[in-house]
This record gives sequence, C-alpha cells and structure tokens, in this order.
Amino acid sequence: MCVLILLILLGTRVQAQKAENIFIITTDGTRWQEIFNGADSALLHDTGFVQDTALSCQLYWDPSPEERRKRLMPFFWNVIAKQGQLYGNRTIESKVNVKNIYKISYPGYNELLTGYPDPLPILNAPQYNRNISVLEYLNGLPEYRNRVAAFTSWNVFPFILNSRRNTMMQNSGYAVLSDTAESIRLANKVQDSVAHKDKTRYDLLTFFNAREYIRLHHPRVVFLALGETDEFAHKSRYDLYLQQLANVDKMIAELWYAVQTDPFYKNNTTFLISTDHGRGRREKWVKHHTFVPGSGEIWLALLGKNILPVGEMKGIKTVYQSQVAATVAFLLGEDFRSNRSIGKPVFLPGAEIRTAAGDKALSTPVFETLTLTNEK
Ligand SMILES: [Zn+2]
Repeated sequence: MCVLILLILLGTRVQAQKAENIFIITTDGTRWQEIFNGADSALLHDTGFVQDTALSCQLYWDPSPEERRKRLMPFFWNVIAKQGQLYGNRTIESKVNVKNIYKISYPGYNELLTGYPDPLPILNAPQYNRNISVLEYLNGLPEYRNRVAAFTSWNVFPFILNSRRNTMMQNSGYAVLSDTAESIRLANKVQDSVAHKDKTRYDLLTFFNAREYIRLHHPRVVFLALGETDEFAHKSRYDLYLQQLANVDKMIAELWYAVQTDPFYKNNTTFLISTDHGRGRREKWVKHHTFVPGSGEIWLALLGKNILPVGEMKGIKTVYQSQVAATVAFLLGEDFRSNRSIGKPVFLPGAEIRTAAGDKALSTPVFETLTLTNEK
C-alpha cells in the first residue's frame, strides 16, 4: 500500500511538472531588431518607408532602446521580460538563427515545426511537406488526438502541415471555420465580406477565430500563425509594419489574459513565440532571402508553465530554429520523433521538468556561460 501511495505521489509530481498545454505563436518575418530595440531610427525617420514620420515618432520613438521597445511591445517587455524568457538580442550575445539556407517562409516554418532544416529547395508554394511536424506528431498521440488546432493567416499552411496526411484541425487563409457558435458564425460572415481575399488573411480574423475556438473547445496544442508583419515589410511600409507588430503584441496579451483567466489553462500552459525568418539590415529591411545578410537572424520568447522568470538571455550558445519542435514536445513531457534527424530541445536553464519517462531531470544548465541581464 505504502509503495502504491509513493508511486501515486511520484506520478503526480512528474505529472504536475510538465505543461499541460502549449501555444505556439508566430508573426511572419519579424526582425529581432524591433523586438529588442523597438523602432529603428534608421528607418523611422525615412520618408521612403514611413508616410508620417512625425506621428510615427510620437507613437514609437524614445531615445532609450529600453523605453522604445516597451512602447512598441508592452506585453513583451512588461510581462514576458519579467515572467518569461527572451532569446535573440544579438547586442548582448544572445543569438537565435535559422539553419535552412533559404531564409524564406516555407523553409522557415518547416524548420520551426518539423525540427528539420530541409536542404531540398522548398518554394513558398502549395506543395505537401514530406517532413512531419511536431503538431502532426502530437495529434497522432492518444493524449492529444483532436486536441491540436492550427489557425493561420497564410493559406499555404495546410501544405506545410500536410493536411492530406493528418486529421489535425486547421483553419487557414479565408477558409470557413465550421462551428455552430454565434461568435464564429458572425466571424465567418465578416470574413466572407472581405472583397479582395489575398493569400494572407487579415491577422485579426485569424486571431478572432483562434480565440473563440480556444474558449469553446479548449485544444491542448495551439498553433497561431500571423502573417501581416511580413506583408507590410514587403510593401516597404515600416510605419504599418510597426503598427502590426504593436497589434501582434496586443493580441498575444489578450490571449495570455484569456488563458490565465480560464481554469482549464490557468498556470498549466506555455506560450512559445517566434518567427519564420529575419530580414535585411537598415534600408535592406524590406527583403529577406539567402543573399540578404540578417535574414537568418530570429528570436524566441517563452512564457508560462515551466518557464523560469529570468527575462532576457545574455551570453548564451546559439539557439537554432530547428530546436523549437523538440522543445515544444519536451515542454509537454513528450519526446518528438520524426522521419528526419531533428534539432534537440533548447534546454531551459534551471527548469525543473522531466520527460514523460520521468527518468532524467533536465535541470542541467546547458548554456555554460549563461548569465542573465537581470542578475545583479
Ligand atoms: Zn516575406
């Protein structure tokens, strides 16, 4: 009997330590420069990129980078920086890089979600992915079957996530979300009224669908992929790119608030936030591909269950995009297996979590030279 009680207690302890739910959130082609330094002075005053420079400065400028980034992304810097972790500020030796050589969207999302930087050229085109994503993997496990949901603005995602090979719930581009709930029926009507339906849906529509579905159905694994940041950047509109980034910060804040006030998700959910690729530097910011330096430089933010509140990382080993998929599974206490050789989890320094097997504490600080900016 005593042994049984001990086993139950041990089991409970291991169970309690992993995250029960995870939300992966991405905003397309967003530079680390804006995340960590706020609006870029080289671009904010340039009338080639900003229509009303005076007003944009009033909105986003401050001489101090710390104040500037807080102004642009208050949720990142008031909440994540205090309660979570931020990787990718290259000015303090914190690098997050993509491993794929293409530095465009499909190869980036493929690397992020499958853990495999595919050397085969994959264009941003509707072709079914040969690699298995961590979402597909989790959806195949009994514990997560039909508890994985993807909401994506860009209509190529059903191919990246290979909707032909799995039954994961997906709502992508301007696809109708079938649900009897009044709020979703209304959202479908609004969506239907969009006259010019581009390949990327308005992020607000994607977000609304995701938020309502999450509230109604409580999926355990959510992928929310927003796309307008990249759209505005390609149009050389730095003003609108900043506006959209501020909107993204607000949407994530709203989602976090919804999670933390819902008993199903409260204190047992982790947010992992990142991007598919970086962009060029200074006036080259509009573009991103193999030959534009900076395109492979990305960032990563973590918040929630099992994420120690250490804030910005400094002086760490380079983290790769290919490590994200395994990290997602790891946070849930699962071991992501794929048909490819994939990146290892980003071991969270000091995090006291165990794998599902519970045989090995993964609290070893893997970043030997790790120091934290908020360490006095
Ligand atoms: Zn792009």
